Parts: sequence; C-alpha cells; structure tokens
Amino acid sequence: MTNSVSVTLSRAVGRGLSCSCPRCGRGNIFARYLKPAATCSSCGEPYGEIRTDDIAPYFTILVVGHLIVPLVLMVEQLYAPPTWIHWALWPPLTLLCAFIALPRIKGAVMGWMWWLGIRGDEQH
Ligand SMILES: [Zn+2]
Repeated sequence: MTNSVSVTLSRAVGRGLSCSCPRCGRGNIFARYLKPAATCSSCGEPYGEIRTDDIAPYFTILVVGHLIVPLVLMVEQLYAPPTWIHWALWPPLTLLCAFIALPRIKGAVMGWMWWLGIRGDEQH
C-alpha cells in the first residue's frame, strides 16, 4: 500500500472524516455502513485491507462521552428534571451520536492509517 506524497496527513484524515477516499477525496471509503470498500470507486486505491479494529469505537466512545456527560450534568444542574426524562433523553441521544460518529471516526482512522502506509495487521 502506498500513499500519495501530495496528500497531507490533515487532508487524509479530513477526507476520511467525511467518509471520502483519503487519496482523491471523491470516492466513498465505505461499501456499507462500516465495511470498507475494497477499492476507491474513483481512483482505485485499495482500502479493503485496512483494519482499524477497536480504535474507532474507542475514539467514538471518547468523543460521544465527552459530549453527552457534560450535557447530562448541565441539564441536571440547570433544570433538575425527573429521572424518567433523563432515561428518555440521554440513551437515545447517546446512541444517535455514536451511530453518526462511528463511521466518520473510522474513516478518519482509515485516512490516518492510509497516510502512514499501515494496514493494521503488522507484527511488532
Ligand atoms: Zn480515491
């Protein structure tokens, strides 16, 4: 796997964040929700071999947790709503945020890995 020297790390990660091909920015990096496309439909760059494993869910939990927990605390401090409102509001909102963020974060990680020229199956 080779990366293009003309693509900066921030551009590769940014394109991955938008679920676009880190190399050309036109093709889709995913064939399905979280399934990487075997190759970019625009430039043919291979992505099917990149394995992000647990790092994308880890970053997703990190980001969504840092978004939701302060909101929970702020709402509790400002309004002190009944417990059922917390149960009705925060779990669905957390799931929604996680489902929206996960492919974007996985795309960003894939862009990062592509830029570094690693596939995630290296032996160290
Ligand atoms: Zn491409």
